[in-house]
Amino acid sequence: MSDRLERLRGQLAEKGVDAVFITRAENRRYLSGFHGSAGYLLITAGAAVLATDFRYTEQAVAEAPDFEILRISNSLADWFPGLANDLGIKTLGFEAADVSYDYHRRLGQALKRKQVPVRLAPLHDLVETLRAVKNPGEIDLISRAAAIGDAAFNAVEPDIRPGLTELQVAWELEKSLRENGSEPLPFEIIVASGPNASLPHHRPSDRAICKGEAVVIDMGARYGGYASDLSRTICAGAPDDTFRKVYGTVLKAQAAAISQITAGVTGHRADSAARKVIRAAGYGEAFGHSLGHGVGLAEHELPRLGPGSHETLTDGMVFTIEPGIYLTGWGGVRIEDLFVMENGKARQLSNARKIVI
Ligand code: ZN
Repeated sequence: MSDRLERLRGQLAEKGVDAVFITRAENRRYLSGFHGSAGYLLITAGAAVLATDFRYTEQAVAEAPDFEILRISNSLADWFPGLANDLGIKTLGFEAADVSYDYHRRLGQALKRKQVPVRLAPLHDLVETLRAVKNPGEIDLISRAAAIGDAAFNAVEPDIRPGLTELQVAWELEKSLRENGSEPLPFEIIVASGPNASLPHHRPSDRAICKGEAVVIDMGARYGGYASDLSRTICAGAPDDTFRKVYGTVLKAQAAAISQITAGVTGHRADSAARKVIRAAGYGEAFGHSLGHGVGLAEHELPRLGPGSHETLTDGMVFTIEPGIYLTGWGGVRIEDLFVMENGKARQLSNARKIVI
């Protein structure tokens, strides 16, 4: 963890702060190693403090050896201003995307009440940018999560047949993920059949799958805290011409995007390659989401791969490539695989079966 702390400290001057206040759970875990569900990190150039309550102090001592553990109460005023004062903090960066309006107000009030003059400065994607580049240990955990996803999908897929409801299929997948070693799942499994499949994030319902329909499945495992993300579309019965055309187009779009992945490429460019294939097939309006996203401690994180994603992809990044076509009334097709950028090339981490058309 200590190299992560050093990388973060290397950013303090550039961001114009002398300390950061970490509230987001994934960032807390990433920087400290502490897995508990409540706590805050305060990091300056010379100090690293993990503040947590009675329920977690023992765990924090064991999991976060690089941090000084401070046991706190529920009242911010009791500990936050005093700690900021002791550490000599003048400008404290906070995670703008995580701190609520209300919480920000309470931080300010606590400082004011104790007459500790600290300026609160919003920070954007500071730890998220560090998290986007994985080390070999993290890549290994994500690979294991992906392998669990593959095993679960491959085990359940042959049993998906007309008459089963979306919820029944989702439950079989969930059981199989857990039996194959997944920790509690990173997100709710999507099973979207027939017309429901035109909704990219449909929630499984008690609708029974009918013969010949497309069924979109989106699922992930978690291993060692790290997520995987996998989508497959299957056909309950023999695929008709529409299914073949839509499925074939999505598969081609995914291959086009993968062929663009080299060191230094932008997410925008990979996205455009997939979008071009889908547009050429006449489905330009039917691919309404981004091509992909990073995966790690969170199931959606940096990097972004979509229109306007001008950050470049670099070695160590783990991301999905998941084009889709969604047709109201008919349904949809999404195919999603997980990749890691290594030596300037994309290596595929997910290998669940795909339909051969
Ligand atoms: Zn995804």
